[in-house]
Amino acid sequence: MLKKISKFFRRNNLDTTKGPHILRSGQHALSPQKISSGARKVVEQLSRDGYQAYLVGGCVRDLMMELKPKDFDVATDATPEQVKQLFKRSRIIGRRFQIVHVRMGPEIIEVTTFRAHHTDKKIHRDKAQRSAKGMLLRDNIFGSIDEDASRRDFTMNAFYYRPQDNSVYDYANGLPDIEQRLIRIIGNPTDRYREDPVRMLRAVRFAAKLGFKLEENTANAISKTYQLLADIPPARLFDEVLKLLINGHALATFHLLRQYQLFGILFPATEDALAKDPGYYLRFVEQALTNTDKRIRSGKHVTPAFLFAALLWPALKEWEQQYTKQDDSPIYSLQKAAGEVATRQCQRVAIPRRFTLPMREIWELQLRLPRRAGSQAFRLMENKRFRAGYDFLLLREDAGEIESELGQWWTIFQDADEGKQQEMVNAIQQPKSKRRRRKKPSQPKKPVHD
Ligand code: ATP
Ligand code: MG
Repeated sequence: MLKKISKFFRRNNLDTTKGPHILRSGQHALSPQKISSGARKVVEQLSRDGYQAYLVGGCVRDLMMELKPKDFDVATDATPEQVKQLFKRSRIIGRRFQIVHVRMGPEIIEVTTFRAHHTDKKIHRDKAQRSAKGMLLRDNIFGSIDEDASRRDFTMNAFYYRPQDNSVYDYANGLPDIEQRLIRIIGNPTDRYREDPVRMLRAVRFAAKLGFKLEENTANAISKTYQLLADIPPARLFDEVLKLLINGHALATFHLLRQYQLFGILFPATEDALAKDPGYYLRFVEQALTNTDKRIRSGKHVTPAFLFAALLWPALKEWEQQYTKQDDSPIYSLQKAAGEVATRQCQRVAIPRRFTLPMREIWELQLRLPRRAGSQAFRLMENKRFRAGYDFLLLREDAGEIESELGQWWTIFQDADEGKQQEMVNAIQQPKSKRRRRKKPSQPKKPVHD
């Protein structure tokens, strides 16, 4: 279908630089029924009140390719205040980039006012602001639909759809790019990445999700701008990292992030460890991401704590070695290394405490799971992180860090009846070294912070 339409435009020599291509009913795969009822209602209500309103972005892109959209976004010429007045259950969110969340039953529709370029220095700082490096710190200058289209990130994301007449407006010549499976940034790639370095992550995310390639200039510019990603606030990077990794395409995303040097900006200590020992550490991270993708594709839950525990494990191991060399006890070395790794990582990607705490418990369980004598195994099973710690142990075994006996022992133990469990525990010989009294830590023990 897409190929035919694109040929139609080429055959008829339609100008792609002036105004949008319009795809009418029958020339595209969309229909109003494929739009969520909430999004349709929002567009209809805005139109009834005399505003322009379109479905835009990923939902139109995905439906053009006959994929299921993740969410539905609306673009309009109504200002955030006007949108808010029109919908009772709505609120304006964001400062850098104001949008309105409109609640329609169980759905939340993101409504964005058309944006314009801004170069005028006299504009109020609340509306438009740039950093010395060109990054947009405030992006709230409103404009026309044409301007809005040129402010979007990629050509495939600048389709606008009007359910009322079932027409798609292709403002940035996205159709041939979709047909050739290309991600092409709109405008000058370096400038657009400078304005918002997160666009580099978005390019990689879409490439992994859709199996597309980055168009040559879109790809090449990243080598000049990747370091700018370090200037993005860590809280925003945390949200972006979750979008990159919890989407069923984490492994492909990881490889692309490394290819474009972006992984080292997001996870500097892990990248250092990977560079030092590309064998085991790489196998481990790849195995963790393969498992994550499998879980998501089979509809299972993935906790960010487990994911970060895995992504930072190579970094933790490196730090732990430093402390072990200083002759600290294993648990003390691990705790100190965990504190160090978490603190440093949060300076780049702000992982909330509700995830760093369980992440560290998963790590600590790796030292406790071998100790099963007496009542220890029974007590460990009661630990609320036991399951995650056990899964993590299996991951280390799968990646070849340790022999697989311990994981097998726990697999059998969990399903055994009480008699068999007791037998298993009785059969355990407490290793001699474990019976020794723990060496006193070389320094007074301080609480370790995130
Ligand atoms: P997804 O399927 O992940 O929702 P999406 O393309 O819809 O993909 P959103 O984050 O929902 O992504 O953004 C909606 C639209 O807003 C995008 O399609 C794009 O047109 C525009 N957009 C989002 N982020 C940016 C950005 N950083 N720079 C320019 N345009 C952006
Ligand atoms: Mg979207």
